[in-house]
Amino acid sequence: MEEQHESGLGFSTLAIRSGHHRTPEGEHGEPIFPTSSFVFSSAAEAAARFSGDEPGNIYSRFTNPTVRNFEQRLAALEGGDCCVATASGMSAVLATCMGLLESGDHIVSSRSLFGTTAILFEKYLKKFGIETTFVPLDDLAAWQSAIRPQTKLLFLETPSNPLTEVADIPKLSALAHAEDALLVVDNCFCTPALQRPLSLGADVVIHSATKYLDGQGRCIGGAVVGSHEIVGEAVFGVLRTAGPTLSPFNAWVFLKGLETLDIRMQAHCKNAQQLAEWLESHPKVERVYYPGLSSHPQHDLARAQQSAPGGIVAFDVKGGQTAAWTLIDATRLLSITANLGDTKTTITHPATTTHGRLSPEERSQVGIGNGLVRVAVGLENIEDIQRDLSRGLDSL
Ligand SMILES: *Cc1c(COP(=O)(O)O)cnc(C)c1O
Repeated sequence: MEEQHESGLGFSTLAIRSGHHRTPEGEHGEPIFPTSSFVFSSAAEAAARFSGDEPGNIYSRFTNPTVRNFEQRLAALEGGDCCVATASGMSAVLATCMGLLESGDHIVSSRSLFGTTAILFEKYLKKFGIETTFVPLDDLAAWQSAIRPQTKLLFLETPSNPLTEVADIPKLSALAHAEDALLVVDNCFCTPALQRPLSLGADVVIHSATKYLDGQGRCIGGAVVGSHEIVGEAVFGVLRTAGPTLSPFNAWVFLKGLETLDIRMQAHCKNAQQLAEWLESHPKVERVYYPGLSSHPQHDLARAQQSAPGGIVAFDVKGGQTAAWTLIDATRLLSITANLGDTKTTITHPATTTHGRLSPEERSQVGIGNGLVRVAVGLENIEDIQRDLSRGLDSL
């Protein structure tokens, strides 16, 4: 993103340099602090740290300098006051809900949602008295009419997985605020390099750092970004007590990932755009879902809200599941795996994997057909990715 941030520094400068507080050793690279606890100079200092009278590290379930470095860097990139890192993207969602909600509260969520998030809401939060109503991502009237006096959160991902539907963040934020609710956006698909939900009116941003923030498929982790009150107190309070904190080693890997985030995202988008256009012209492809195509229903909204369309392309092949599986099995280069946001291109059949736990009716409600294939476009040469898909497509 070219825009200037509050600090006056550009996105990549912040991604490369922010959050590192150099130690007296004078290290150039960010250090890893693999320590579970921190030493106090006296009993009085220990007491002051524990009571909160004196700032400083106590124990790595609460704070760790490497984890803090990642948190400060991601907060700078998202334009948030505060960030807390978590052991996974899912624990970021869970800690946010535990920090902000109580029994009797209600969530309105997009129906197009990462499958595990949907199960967390529907099965586990429900056990603790928190109900969720699912609505179509792009239907503002449905969001409005699902809101009840108990509604505390509106939750969405945009673009959605796997169909890349785009939600209108400014409008949904206005809707949430008019009803005294908060808007939470899972910014996994775009990352702050392409979209900054807080500047569009969202209150909380969630990340699965496992995906593009890492960028090379190495570690599991997550983060929550927002105001000091929401994230620094409510969400952090849950984390330090319940314990799904990020390890310093994983935080360090993500720090290195952030340094190249902007150029990687630009390259993912360039490959994805080219692949989407090529697929759209292929006779064995029924329909392509990619916000960068003018045929995408929210193409204009995506252009207004994102600086580029993203790296995920989904498409329906003619011939349903048999054709989709034939295509997937004919690949030799692409990885048949559910992860995304990797330099390596991955290919999945959502109906039988990531969204396999939904009933056939639920899948058809969200528009995931048996012929749908999702490609998380990596950074290999685009010609090689196309050749690998051609082999299967041409055999159909
Ligand atoms: C992967 C993913 C998550 C969950 O993240 P984990 O790191 O796997 O726990 C949440 N939201 C989206 C959109 C994802 O793709």
